[in-house]
Amino acid sequence: MRVLVVEDDRRIAADIGRALQAAGYVVDVVGDGEEAWFRGDTEDYGAIVLDLGLPGMDGLSVLKRWRANARRTPVLILTARGSWSERVEGIDAGADDYLPKPFRMEELLARLRSIVRRSAGHASSVLEAGALALDERQMKVTLRGVPVALSPLEYRLIVYLLRHRGRVVSQHELIENVYGQDEAHDSNAVEVLVGRLRKKIGPDLIETRRGFGYLVPEAVA
Ligand code: CA
Repeated sequence: MRVLVVEDDRRIAADIGRALQAAGYVVDVVGDGEEAWFRGDTEDYGAIVLDLGLPGMDGLSVLKRWRANARRTPVLILTARGSWSERVEGIDAGADDYLPKPFRMEELLARLRSIVRRSAGHASSVLEAGALALDERQMKVTLRGVPVALSPLEYRLIVYLLRHRGRVVSQHELIENVYGQDEAHDSNAVEVLVGRLRKKIGPDLIETRRGFGYLVPEAVA
């Protein structure tokens, strides 16, 4: 899943970027309000972490413009410590949750998981399909209770398919959400990844819709 991080403090931005990558997300970082608005308005992100104090355009205005344009991406805002008015304004502007600075990275990750789950209508951090269970908190995948070792790319791919279960996901969309902007990949990268995954989790869970993409069906035996 791709996450947009909007934060003009370079050190904080780099820390968040690293933590999210380590947690299996594909991350884009921008430090300017105008560019943030444009990215969030034109690209599909699974979630956005948005600082409110930004150069160019402030975070609240960015958020209001996304919402006014029917952009429903879950947004976690970063607010100044103790500023209740920022929190209230942020929630009113359409933020899904807020996190006061300074914060622990673990809490940011938990809140991010929670707003993504809520927007997808899932109540639990464990995604299940047939004999497969994926615990997003522990980044752990099991098949009939037995742990399966996945590479970071394999993990991102199966998380994305499970989150969008019942829908055919195109190769292009998978590339966008599994690979970072700077990560090189071949034209058949997704095919190769799916092949490797099937060897580890069984051949039937991920279905191929030739010419359209891949699908984890709603009902799995
Ligand atoms: Ca700031």
